[in-house]
Amino acid sequence: MIQKENMMDENIRRLLKQFKLPGLLERFNEEIDRAIEENLGHRAFLQKLLEIEEMSKKERLRLKRIKEAHFEEHKMIEEFDFGFQNNISQSKILDLATLSFLDKHENIIFIGPPGVGKSHISTGLGMKACEEGRSVLFVNAIELMDYLSKCLEKGTLRQQFKRLYKVDLLIIDDLGYLKMDKEKESIFFQLIRQRYEKKSLIITTNLPFNRWDEVFTNELAAAAVLDRLLHHAHIISISGDSYRVNKKHEEVLYD
Ligand code: ADP
Ligand code: MG
Repeated sequence: MIQKENMMDENIRRLLKQFKLPGLLERFNEEIDRAIEENLGHRAFLQKLLEIEEMSKKERLRLKRIKEAHFEEHKMIEEFDFGFQNNISQSKILDLATLSFLDKHENIIFIGPPGVGKSHISTGLGMKACEEGRSVLFVNAIELMDYLSKCLEKGTLRQQFKRLYKVDLLIIDDLGYLKMDKEKESIFFQLIRQRYEKKSLIITTNLPFNRWDEVFTNELAAAAVLDRLLHHAHIISISGDSYRVNKKHEEVLYD
């Protein structure tokens, strides 16, 4: 009897591998025991098994999307302390976290000094998007522009643009610490134009809009970018103290 069961298990394992059902492969034995214990009907048992594989597939996809997004830190909205940063509207951020901005192809711009949580919230929104099955890419602005101008040199820019366009949510972090030359400016403008009203962007920056000309070659170029970027955009200004600096002070005070 035991031997027969072992042979069946082996066969089940082989088939689950063949049909690529790793969630069931991991749990089928445990679920059979539970079904016997709970006296589960055949139909309910089959449904349970299929749901297990569905959940496991969702989780695998979520992890794959998070990996492909290249977040610098895995921060969640739920980990953000709105009590500390009380000049930012929690309800506005929670509203953005419903991701309706992605469906409407709207942008979000976070403006504020270092350490106030711009990257944290952007990452949190990106993680939500991954959970909901959207593709995300988190990139530092300087690295992105260096990379794209190398692609231009190598003749692969078109290909890269195609790749970037496939991404549902592109997060460009820390636009404000780079000074673009004519070439980078033109690439950046193409990128903005490509996504305009079609795909969402999140940009974080330390610069208020009246200082964006510091990133571009002149005021006109900055205005052209802002014109497209802000047409359908949520603008979140965060003032206040740096969380990092504040936590350091607390450590010093309470150690
Ligand atoms: P910014 O991008 O604005 O410079 P970050 O988002 O990188 O700031 O925040 C700096 C660090 O402090 C991160 O580790 C972030 O998770 C944390 N942090 C900032 N603000 C908060 C907050 N209100 N609650 C919890 N953690 C925060
Ligand atoms: Mg940051």
